[in-house]
Amino acid sequence: MSSVPVAVVTGSNKGIGFAIVRALCKQFPGDVYLTARDPGRGQEAVAKLQEEGLRALFHQLDIDDPQSIRVLRDFLKEKYGGLNVLVNNAGIAFKVHDTTPFAVQAEVTLKTNFFGTRNVCTELLPLVKPYGRVVNVSSMVSSSALGGCSRELQQKFRSDTITEDELVELMTKFVEDTKKGVHEKEGWPNTAYGVSKIGVTVLSRIQARMLNEKRKGDHILLNACCPGWVRTDMAGPKATKSPDEGAETPVYLALLPSDADGPHGQFLSNKTVRTW
Ligand code: NAP
Repeated sequence: MSSVPVAVVTGSNKGIGFAIVRALCKQFPGDVYLTARDPGRGQEAVAKLQEEGLRALFHQLDIDDPQSIRVLRDFLKEKYGGLNVLVNNAGIAFKVHDTTPFAVQAEVTLKTNFFGTRNVCTELLPLVKPYGRVVNVSSMVSSSALGGCSRELQQKFRSDTITEDELVELMTKFVEDTKKGVHEKEGWPNTAYGVSKIGVTVLSRIQARMLNEKRKGDHILLNACCPGWVRTDMAGPKATKSPDEGAETPVYLALLPSDADGPHGQFLSNKTVRTW
């Protein structure tokens, strides 16, 4: 078993994830795994970094596929006995003018951004070693979407006692409400991406709380963040930040020094804790 520290970034064949891997290759003292659902796109990305003189390793990971997650889990367990840094970056968004019915957009978006991210965490968080760092890439849109929720929903999403099961129930209810055409009546905002990212931010708050309760002495720091508005296939060419700039906050959180006791369980943008 290797004692080399190991970092894993989901959805990193392009965009912000790719830039996070690039930065980690330069700054993380260990093996950095670029992961992608498509091995061809993943290997191509690794080759691109190699041309820059950077060494990333590749492992397949489709966060929508529980078997793919388990294969990565077993690989990390066997080869490294766990992992040190996990960046949950993979995500999707329908374009604003996409005419796919809203209920379909809701189901597909929640499937990857919330349920896929959660499934990765369920399998990989128990493997995170003491002093490990976990970064869940959410979005400022989670904050604006929270503001668009009913008072009752806002209270639930801001609660310091909400459980992961209760959150899963709420995310499932959103998808069901869109299918019944009652999501607005039920207090939800009109954004599937926004609700999926509320899920990611609230999940991070819950996971941090659980770490405090169950693994206090392990000094693991887990946070959610927004990378900013970044020029990628998702956000388009008019966005204000380059992918390398978008990687700055996630990388800052992934590399928090071992003597840091925070931030933990927070939502950050531009390396600054934001009020939830
Ligand atoms: P992007 O360029 O579209 O890249 C998304 C990455 O996620 C791609 O590598 C994609 O792989 C991967 N992915 C999607 N579904 C996946 C799955 N099921 N399993 C594994 N990988 C999957 O988007 P981006 O702008 O870099 O976004 C990265 C993260 O930042 C997302 O979570 C996004 O919500 C968040 N974010 C972005 C912005 C922004 O302005 N760009 C703002 C706030 C938050 P494929 O190439 O195979 O599709």
